[in-house]
Amino acid sequence: MTMNRPILAANWKMNNGPTSAREFMKSFLDQYPRQNDRTVLFFPPAISLTTMAAAIADRRDIMLGVQNVYWKDQGAFTGELSVGMARDAGARVVLVGHSERRHVFGETDEETALKCAAVERGGLTPLLCVGELLDQREAGNAESVVVQQLRAGFSQMTQLATRDVLVAYEPVWAIGTGKTATPEDATAMHSVIRKELSALCGDRGRITPILYGGSVTSANAQTLLGAPQVDGLLVGGASLDAGSWLAVARA
Ligand code: PEP
Repeated sequence: MTMNRPILAANWKMNNGPTSAREFMKSFLDQYPRQNDRTVLFFPPAISLTTMAAAIADRRDIMLGVQNVYWKDQGAFTGELSVGMARDAGARVVLVGHSERRHVFGETDEETALKCAAVERGGLTPLLCVGELLDQREAGNAESVVVQQLRAGFSQMTQLATRDVLVAYEPVWAIGTGKTATPEDATAMHSVIRKELSALCGDRGRITPILYGGSVTSANAQTLLGAPQVDGLLVGGASLDAGSWLAVARA
């Protein structure tokens, strides 16, 4: 999978069904000609994936992912989505362990590990999200929480030395709150993540993209992207409006 950096990723959460996804992409693509110096990644709701895949058919600089999968390949799991189905519909990447999965739906480290392993087995790339709660930061535990989430999430993958993975540092207190980490805080945590990735993935860990996420807007995207060790951005709210997402994608 070839991804150019920076990687600008849009997490649409539970927004944009097929009709609005189509309209969004028409407006976005009209104003965003092919860029070879970056990769744009969309995580629409799974139901909009085939619409999105049709819209970006001739664009190698734009890729798709899903926001969640189940770790089983198929069967009696009502409401769930397998990695194979996501791949079939055009996804190349899978978000795993997003803070809303962890804190709204109670997803555990064990489940993130099963999901990352399933994504690897299915030939897609996991984008593992890690990040501390405010009280964990205030108690001085941010780094240990993030390192633990990383180790746990990747613990059942068997090809870390040879396969692509992506990581997003998303401090929970910054997601959807309007509070962003300072570029210095982001760099400091990304450096901790980089060190751990080198331990987990060997040489490949040195080049694993690490994205920052948490209240990124068109106003702060450039500064955060310019911070050392920040290889891209994962954006929720500001990716829902074609105009503000254009500005972030061009940052
Ligand atoms: C996210 O959903 O991953 C996210 C970072 O959201 P927001 O940009 O709205 O904080």
